[in-house]
Amino acid sequence: MPGRIRPEDIAAVRERSPIVDVVGEYLQLRPAGGGSLKGLCPFHDEKSPSFNVTPGKELYYCFSCNEGGDAIRFVQEVDKLSFAEAIEKLAARAGIELRYEGGGYVPGQETSQRRRLIEANKAAQEFYATQLRADNSNRRGSGGAVTAETARAFLAERGFELADAERFGVGFAPQAWDELTRHLRGRGFTDDELAKAGLARRSSRGTLIDMFRGRMMWPIRDLAGDTVAFGARKLDPDDDGPKYLNTPETSLFKKSHVLYGADLARREIGRQRKAVIVEGYTDVMACHLAGEPTAVATCGTSFGDDHVKLLRRLIMDAEGSDGAVIFTFDGDAAGQKAALRAFTLEDKFVSQTYVAVQPDGLDPCDLRLKHGGGAIRDLIARRVPLFEFAIKAVLGKHDLDSTDGQLAALDEAAPIVARIKDKGKRERYAVNLDRWLGFMNEKFVLGRVREHARDTGRGRGATIRSADKKPADQPHQPAYRYDRSDPVLRVEREALKLAVQWPALCGPEFDELGADAFVVPVHGSVFGLIAGRGGVASAGRAREWVAALLEAAPDDRARAFVNELAVESLQVSGDPDEKYAGVILARVGELALGRRIAEFKGKLQRMNAETEQATHMRLFKELVKLEERRKALLDRATGG
Ligand SMILES: [Zn+2]
Repeated sequence: MPGRIRPEDIAAVRERSPIVDVVGEYLQLRPAGGGSLKGLCPFHDEKSPSFNVTPGKELYYCFSCNEGGDAIRFVQEVDKLSFAEAIEKLAARAGIELRYEGGGYVPGQETSQRRRLIEANKAAQEFYATQLRADNSNRRGSGGAVTAETARAFLAERGFELADAERFGVGFAPQAWDELTRHLRGRGFTDDELAKAGLARRSSRGTLIDMFRGRMMWPIRDLAGDTVAFGARKLDPDDDGPKYLNTPETSLFKKSHVLYGADLARREIGRQRKAVIVEGYTDVMACHLAGEPTAVATCGTSFGDDHVKLLRRLIMDAEGSDGAVIFTFDGDAAGQKAALRAFTLEDKFVSQTYVAVQPDGLDPCDLRLKHGGGAIRDLIARRVPLFEFAIKAVLGKHDLDSTDGQLAALDEAAPIVARIKDKGKRERYAVNLDRWLGFMNEKFVLGRVREHARDTGRGRGATIRSADKKPADQPHQPAYRYDRSDPVLRVEREALKLAVQWPALCGPEFDELGADAFVVPVHGSVFGLIAGRGGVASAGRAREWVAALLEAAPDDRARAFVNELAVESLQVSGDPDEKYAGVILARVGELALGRRIAEFKGKLQRMNAETEQATHMRLFKELVKLEERRKALLDRATGG
């Protein structure tokens, strides 16, 4: 049990832990007037800063979630520590040696477990760093093929000097069973502590062995600079373990919450309002050495929600911020996939997100090695917005020489464009998309994007929720292939889209058409589906109406087709009105009547007017009526 920390030591810790400095290690603070500072609250998600720090009072307070207190309370809350642990953390930060009541400092007894685990990691980091400089000739025969020399060669081959290794705390884990374990035991750490710190593990024989052997070691540090874990790369090609190995999750290390290099990068990230996300430890090193000090990397996991939160606080990624988050990926398929995954996090940032795609698949480390540090800065400067990258990746999957391919690509790309936050930018991208697709129909593409923007709440009032929930990496296949440039089929399709999306605009004119008013059989069956639900007359709100039709569809293909009709934009700019619906429906009716009239005429011609005079006369009268109705519809269809 830890003894009580002496009150005068607690007072000293308080004295030497200015709240601005303590909080400033976790989030970017900006002057807020009246001598106080503000930043993005670490205790709740927010887009504009409501977290205030008042240096004069040594207090913080969040006006949104009402969290507040002093520096000790802050560390307790943000790192989930007990009071004593928070004092210990702040004491270590301020260089104060704590004394406990009932005795002096006795390592391994009074101090909290968290502090012990951090000390074990620190001692391990120093051990690995020393090993990197070790003279091989002095090493007792531990039998390993991999030596400190191998590790130094690994660094040299990648353009790193020993001084660089020192700057990043890089070290070498000797290829022995328990060298670190024995070293740390000698320093007073218990087996339990070594296991809990993730530095050692039980072997199959029950003895404690080193977690990392024959590997290059990168210390992973929290924002305060404490080593909480290691990233390790194998050096022995015969090692059948994974190329990269990380400390398992411990009470200190949650990989989804940590970014490698963030302790070194956080000040520049805040100052430049920019963060560069690279893929590996050597990439972070290369970027920092090349004059790009905002680079960070994830540790053995992909970039996720908690990483977003961490970066946002460091950038102070708030409304009106001009921040930039730049992902670097190589241009190969895996890189593209990673970029598209990053894209799913895009709207969690307020800052603009970019992709810097590496030429020739060279990662920043190789780039610096081959072309120097300037090449890394060029890479970052050549960034393209993540949107452009994602859209072009989608277009690349489709055959844009065919109309079907163009439409399918549009179906997949429009939702991406619709997600762009800035309206002006969104419309510019819609125009670009039209060009990239080769449609040369800006209106059509814009309409499609606007429709999706409505769905994501980025446009005017939401109307129809897109039922289009296809995973983005699944190429879109139209449910039915037919020539959509055929004017008759186009107007039929438009009528069905109206009936599915805007039933209230259609009225009895639609329900009276009849399934045989449609040339394409699948169009007729959708009409049947609608009639089966009581016609557009009984449609309720648009969203439920679409859901009801999807449910009524007899099979997957029909469902896919209804889905298509529900999401495809109408061929009118802006929202359709009753007049537009009236014109479309009149045209469908007129075309259908035209076909019936042609049939009638054929029949009449084949008839003998003399012998079948009565029938002929009846049919002729009917034909005249049909012609009259058709004329009326034609007038309505042409707005006459
Ligand atoms: Zn808050």
